[in-house]
Order: sequence, then C-alpha cells, then structure tokens
Amino acid sequence: MLNFLKLINKQRNTNNHKHCRYINESLIFDYKNSVKLCPYSDFGTIISNYNGIWFDIEKLKKIKSESINIINSINCPNICKNCEYYKDNKRKDNNTIKYLYLSNWKNCYLNCSYCDFPKEENLIKASHYDVFQSIKQLFDSQLIDVNTTVIFDCGDATIHPEFDKILYYFINYEMKKIIINTPAMRYCESISEAIANNIAEVIIPLDSGCPYIFEKIKGSNKFDIVINNLKRYLSFEEPSEKRVILKYTILKGINDNQKEILDWFMLARDLGIKRLTIDIDKKWYNQIKDSIPQYLKELVVFINKISQYNEIGIDFCDRTNFIYNTINKK
Ligand code: SF4
Ligand code: SF4
Repeated sequence: MLNFLKLINKQRNTNNHKHCRYINESLIFDYKNSVKLCPYSDFGTIISNYNGIWFDIEKLKKIKSESINIINSINCPNICKNCEYYKDNKRKDNNTIKYLYLSNWKNCYLNCSYCDFPKEENLIKASHYDVFQSIKQLFDSQLIDVNTTVIFDCGDATIHPEFDKILYYFINYEMKKIIINTPAMRYCESISEAIANNIAEVIIPLDSGCPYIFEKIKGSNKFDIVINNLKRYLSFEEPSEKRVILKYTILKGINDNQKEILDWFMLARDLGIKRLTIDIDKKWYNQIKDSIPQYLKELVVFINKISQYNEIGIDFCDRTNFIYNTINKK
C-alpha cells in the first residue's frame, strides 16, 4: 500500500501539463472578423463576425480556461496533438495574454508572389474593423499590460485608418515590446517614435538587393521609396539600427542565388542594419522538405558565413533553421 501511495505521489510530482503558446498565451484579432486563440483552426474562437464595438471579456476568460482544460484532456482535438505548438509544460497556465496579435488588417500596397493573404475587395472591406476600444478593455481588465508583446502582423498595418492612434496609445502606455511588420511603402512618424523610444522592432520584407528582383517579386517598382523610408527609420542614434530588421524570403528561381543574397547583405550593411531574418517560401518548402536540394543547403551555409564575416546578426526562421540544423547534424 505504501509503495502504491508513493507511486501516485511520484506521478503527481512529475505530471506534465500540455501547453500551446496560442491557447495559453495569445489573443488574435484576425482578418476574417474573428477574435480567437488559435491561428490555425476555429478551436478557441471567442467571437465570429466581430464588429469591433464591444468585447466580451468574461467570455474570453471562460473560453480561454475551457480551451486550456480541453488540450489537457482526452478531448484534445487531433489538430492540436499533431501541432508543433502542442508541448509539455511544468505548470498549468493562467489567463494572461503575453502576445496580442493585431492581424485584423490584410490590405497592402504590394503584391508579393508568395503572399498568403487574399486581397479581394470584399475581404479588404470586411477586415476593416475597429480594435481600439477592445484594446482599452483588455488593459482595463488587466488581461494585457506593459509586458504584453504586441504584434502588428502582415499586410501593411500602417494603411489601417487607426494604426497611428493605436500605436501612439501603446507608446504612451510605455509598452515594452511592439513588433511591426511593414513593407515600408509608407513612412509613419508613429513608427519612428516607437523606434526612438526603443520599444519597436520593425520587420521589413525586402527579399532582394536590387530594384529588378524587388519588382519581380512584389509587382511594384517602388524599391527606392522603401529604401528612403528605411533610411528615415534608421536615422536615430543607437539602438535604432538594431530595431530595424530586414527580411528575405527565398523564392524558387527568383532570388535563390548567392548573388542576390550578397547584394541584399551589402545593402543592409551599407544602410547600417545590424539584424536580418531569412525565411523560405512556405509552399515551395512544403514540396521539397523531404529532399532539400543541395544548392539550397549550400545557400544557407553561405548566408551563415557572410553574416559572421560581416558581423550582422541573422535569425533563421523555422524553415531555414531546419535546413541549417539538418546540415549541422551531419
Ligand atoms: S496546438 Fe496548434 S492547433 Fe492546437 S490550439 Fe495550439 S496552435 Fe492551434
Ligand atoms: S508585404 Fe506582406 S502583406 Fe504585403 S504583399 Fe508582401 S507578403 Fe503580402
């Protein structure tokens, strides 16, 4: 009997809880007029057809804790069991929101060939809903605070009519970390102020080192406008150069070569940019992930070498990181 009790206690002590960074830690305002926890399914949807006027905080808390219970039960949906974000955790988490995704706006000046976001007229109209009141409610109910990371997702959030108002609100609230994805086709004073206050990371997807490839990928000849806006965002003393991050998505047959990567690197170096991030086109990657072409592996090694040589930090996103780790295991 004693041994049996010891065994039960041992099981309790080592018992792991299940954890998903989205269900446990995030809230997403998405472009299909839903407020939800999971970006990949309808599991954890708080409101559909949201009009942005009033946000039911109690419903959010209830659905969040129910969803946490579900992923810890035998009713856990299969999509979660097979998901990369479904992990073991020591504690069962509470109702805090560490990541607030403002993904309610998908309109964009550009038309990148790899863009996932639909641009149909109806969807653009539908996606314009007001999140400002909801954000204030989340602060008032203490579900978010200065430590919450705010992520303005792609499209170009700067086109959203409320972008400046929302960003200044966060700046005045003295938020600590705001991530802004923008193609930098439009310069924003509010972004400059957030950079100057050392609270913003601005991720700019250039994907090229010259106007010709830029136009080929993005369907726009406005390369010079982007570079000029970039220079304005970089015009502060330290630490702005670490706050502007240049992104490159590798695309099959377009920019998947050393010359273009090198041009992009040299451009970043000349602009004084110290942080870069590199990804690979998701659709292409899914086709080749079981048999990565040798030239792509060599390209990833090349990127790593030039980054070390030039002392420019590079983040490999999940897919490029996987390629890099595969090479290093050999
Ligand atoms: S585990 Fe994956 S599918 Fe499940 S809620 Fe989290 S992100 Fe969504
Ligand atoms: S900048 Fe982003 S949102 Fe705009 S077209 Fe390109 S990938 Fe799509």
